[in-house]
Amino acid sequence: MPLGIYPGSFDPVTNGHLDIISRASTIFDQIIVAIAMDNNKDTLFTVDERKDMLINVTQSYPNVTVEVFSGLLIDYAERKGAAGIIRGLRAVSDFEYEMQLAAMNKKMAEKCETIFFTTSTEYSFLSSSIIKQVAALGGCVSGLVPEIVELSLRKKFLTNEEA
Ligand code: ADP
Repeated sequence: MPLGIYPGSFDPVTNGHLDIISRASTIFDQIIVAIAMDNNKDTLFTVDERKDMLINVTQSYPNVTVEVFSGLLIDYAERKGAAGIIRGLRAVSDFEYEMQLAAMNKKMAEKCETIFFTTSTEYSFLSSSIIKQVAALGGCVSGLVPEIVELSLRKKFLTNEEA
């Protein structure tokens, strides 16, 4: 399996994302973690902030790089010559959306395969949204996100409070 693309918002990257990256990096020769610019989501962190955090926390994986893409994922994946798209499945609630996405991508590009990794149990409840909700109210997210993300969250909410 030469190149896999792991797309997402990563707002911010959590230990759940990192777990997928770590496991996928043993299966694919090369992985691009691809931050989607055009996903219509209001994000807490800018694209550059998300990219910097991802670069920082994936440093120890020599076959993982981080990029930002805009437009259709499938066009980007084809341009890169990717063998597959990597996604994570946490719960049944993810399944319907992820199936729809995979089917739509397959419809647009027949050769495009989506490879799903099921979450590790300890991260099955973990999402970027819940991390932001907890951190915004001053809750502890240690052990759920990398340290650099914890610091960035603290800084971000401190700045927002001061503003
Ligand atoms: P998106 O906006 O594309 O859903 P996310 O950054 O929220 O972007 O998630 C990217 C991918 O990582 C998705 O496939 C999502 O299901 C998966 N993912 C997120 N959190 C976890 C987790 N805790 N365990 C496994 N997969 C996860």
